[in-house]
This record gives sequence, structure tokens and C-alpha cells, in this order.
Amino acid sequence: METAGVEPFADILVRHRLSLVRDRVHTLQVNTGYLCNLRCRHCHLEAGPGRKEIMSRETMEAVVSFARRFPFQVIDLTGGAPEMVPDLPFLIEGLAPFAPRLMLRTNLSALSDSARESLLALCVVHRVVLVASFPSTNPSEADTQRGAGVTDAAIAVLKKLNAAGYGVEGTGLELDLVSNPVGAFLPASRESAEREFRHELLRKWGIAFNHLYTFANVPLGRFRTGLLQTENYERYVKILVEAFNPAAVEGLMCRTLLSVSWDGFLYDCDFNLAVDRSAGGRKVHVSDVRELPPFGAPIATGEYCYACTAGSGFT
Ligand code: SF4
Repeated sequence: METAGVEPFADILVRHRLSLVRDRVHTLQVNTGYLCNLRCRHCHLEAGPGRKEIMSRETMEAVVSFARRFPFQVIDLTGGAPEMVPDLPFLIEGLAPFAPRLMLRTNLSALSDSARESLLALCVVHRVVLVASFPSTNPSEADTQRGAGVTDAAIAVLKKLNAAGYGVEGTGLELDLVSNPVGAFLPASRESAEREFRHELLRKWGIAFNHLYTFANVPLGRFRTGLLQTENYERYVKILVEAFNPAAVEGLMCRTLLSVSWDGFLYDCDFNLAVDRSAGGRKVHVSDVRELPPFGAPIATGEYCYACTAGSGFT
């Protein structure tokens, strides 16, 4: 999977006298499965409506027991579209007492179904932080990445979230947005993109939010396939390599995060999950974990790690 002419990620770390090893683990990311109502072009997990992999109640019980045994500061629920997993409310209720900060990633359109009203109410009760994908303030650009009409649905949901208090000052209900480039290029700086999104969302639709995060697309899954089909893969990886920022390594999320797959196995991050490279080099189920990876333990890396160290990094 290494591209000709691209320095292996492990080698660039050595050349900069850096090592990518574990710090103290404080975040648990839970991937609830690959089922999604969308089929976005940039998805590193190739999630979509046809995927059958979703977290069972039994695995959720094992994840809740894991969080009870090893307290995390942050628990981050992701997918696919977690909203489509039937037992998601069970997971939220089970995890809420064990994490000061419980986050739920949403593509917004999966929340638009009226059947999700009770899920939103549950999020309000447990002060769940909502982290919503919103690639662009230009609807036609965003629809190119995510599908026709998806941005209109997302805007309607953002208005509903604001009405419920999310993203509104003084409510304590946090609504963050995530934007990634609609193509094979690097994102704008976080600060300038946040300023632009805040201005445009308010001006066009009267929408407020708390923070915006900008991430480079990771050359895995459907995004990788698209790059290969358009003969842009090598060019994109080289853009990432040229933007390598040694200062980003210290803050990489894989140093402090553990990722659990929909069937309960541990990975160093969601990208290693996508390529099935287990944490610590062996498949371990959450129910069998006796200790968290110790300080200094190695982290599985690959060419895709360059997406995390480009520019200000993917932390
Ligand atoms: S893909 Fe990113 S988060 Fe995962 S191991 Fe590589 S640098 Fe760390």
C-alpha cells in the first residue's frame, strides 16, 4: 500500500527524530458500525445504506463495562451513521455516567427523520456534544461530496438543533461542525474556516454553532478508490507529504485515544480500524482488556498517517 517515491511514514518520523508512541489514554472512540443513509465520496470506511455491520446490544454491554472499568474523560460515538443503530439510546444511557464528555458524530441528515426526535431529547438530557459533518457553506459543493439534497436536510436539522438549544450560548449544549475539503486538496486553516462558516451560516440561514474543525481527507476507503480511479492518488499523497508538520505529531489523537470497532475490537484509531490493523498488533476484544496501552507503547502507522500530520494536523 506504499506509494513509489513516498517516504514511509515511520521513516519520516525517524528523520525528524520523532517517535509516535502512546501517551496516557483519555479518549474512547466507539465505532457503532458502517450503516449510513449516505454514501459520501470521502468516507474512509465505505459506509452506506447497504452495510450490515452494526454494533449489537451484547457488544454495547461489553463497551459500557469497559468504560466502567477504565474511566475515560471523553467518549466519542461515531459510525457510519450512529443514529441508524437501533440500540444507540441504550449505548448513550449506558455510557453517559462514565464520561464527563460524551460526543455523538452525526451527518445531520440521519437526524432529520421524525423517528429521531426521542434521540435528540436523550442527547439533551445527557448533555451529549453533537459533532456534525458540514463540509461546505456552498450547498452545491457539499452535495457533490455527499449526495443531492443532503445540505438542505442538514440545514433543516441544524435549525432544529439551535431551537433545542444546541450551539446557543448559555445552554451548555455544544454543537461543533466538521468540515473536510470537497476534493483532493488540503483544508483551509481552522481559524479562517471557522470565521467564514460562522459568518455564512448566520447570514444565509440564521444558524449558530460552537466550534468548527477542519480535517484533511484520509486516502482510504471510498476516497482512496476515487483518487485511484481519477489517477489522483499519488498526487494527493504527495501533497500530504509536502505538508508534513513535525510539530503535529505530539498532539495526534492516536497517542491518547483507543478506538473500538462495531464488533468490539481495539484499534489505535478509526483509520487503523478501516484497514484492520489492530492495536498492539493483535486482535483484542474490549471484554478481555486487563490494562490500557501503557505510556510508550507503539502505535500502528501507515501512509494514511500523512493526512493527520498535514498542516496543523488531525488531532
Ligand atoms: S492515521 Fe492518524 S491517528 Fe491513526 S495512527 Fe496514523 S497518525 Fe495516528
